Amino acid sequence: MIRGLANKKLDTAKKYLLEAGSVYIGCHILPDGDAVGSLLGLGRALRSLGKACTLACADPIPFKFDFLPGVQDIVANPPTAEEVIVTVDSSDVERLGALYDEAIFHSRPVINIDHHVTNTAFGTVNLVQFLPSTAEIVYALIKRLGALLDKDTAAALLTGLVTDTRCFRTGNVTTKQLRTAIAFMKAGASLAEITELVFNRKPVSTICLWGQSLANAQTRGRIIWTEISRDMMRKCGATPNDGNGLVSHLASTLGVDVAIVFRETDDGRVDASMRAGPGWDISGVAFKLGGGGHPKAAGCTIAGDMHTVRDLVLSEIEAVLQDQKAACHDQ
Ligand code: 5GP
Ligand code: MN
Repeated sequence: MIRGLANKKLDTAKKYLLEAGSVYIGCHILPDGDAVGSLLGLGRALRSLGKACTLACADPIPFKFDFLPGVQDIVANPPTAEEVIVTVDSSDVERLGALYDEAIFHSRPVINIDHHVTNTAFGTVNLVQFLPSTAEIVYALIKRLGALLDKDTAAALLTGLVTDTRCFRTGNVTTKQLRTAIAFMKAGASLAEITELVFNRKPVSTICLWGQSLANAQTRGRIIWTEISRDMMRKCGATPNDGNGLVSHLASTLGVDVAIVFRETDDGRVDASMRAGPGWDISGVAFKLGGGGHPKAAGCTIAGDMHTVRDLVLSEIEAVLQDQKAACHDQ
């Protein structure tokens, strides 16, 4: 956690960054708005200080972020000659996918900037704070660096904040996030444009995939889940990104405590993307199953076929709900 140590850690990160001639910044696989926004925002700010920056993501960037300047320059390769490595929004090195190269990561300073409770503190410096978005930690670092917050940097960071708070609707939003959003808007970022482009527009492939998945949604007690098979994705012309947002939609079902979307990956595993309602914490079970996340938004990717993984995850979630219900009654 940054709290208490905030300034010291920010100063250590600042020292590494200001001394470096070149910086590599990487974000997690299947990037969301917080990953892309934090990547672009920090990259622009460091470039304004004269630093050469490589921005990287192992997976393609969803087209809905195309409006953010600099998206086209994001590469998919691991670091090579850059002097300092920064990771954003990645709770562990596995989430970096093909960007992670053990030898390279152990040969230079790594600044781990993240907001997940399950972060494994893999950096030389760990700027880890359980805020609603990584973009806010990037903003604190930018201020500490004395770097420019121009319109495009602010738009990138506001995209991160807006995405991870689902337009300021998540339970962890306080006046702090609204004040930060005001700072980004004062710098020229358009909240209306970001919400329109990131939330209000879906390609036909997404509608097709959601339609099929929602039609097959099932409940067990207070858990709702659905499945996305590779066959469904092929029929809809969909990519894994088309499934983003579906789990939050399922979680809006009345009388449901946990929503899960199971998706077959190309490498024979199943990704379980999970959301929990007020009062529940699913970060621990996701971590136990090899993934991670936040108390109310977590996930894991497990080797095996759909049936096996689904049954395993459902029984683990049922056990967690039982335990937490019991703990709640004990208090
Ligand atoms: P999402 O459901 O939006 O894909 O991910 C929810 C949260 O869980 C994110 O903060 C994500 O970084 C974290 N997470 C960690 N490992 C995994 C994983 O293997 N799959 C998914 N879906 N999320 C993961
Ligand atoms: Mn995030």
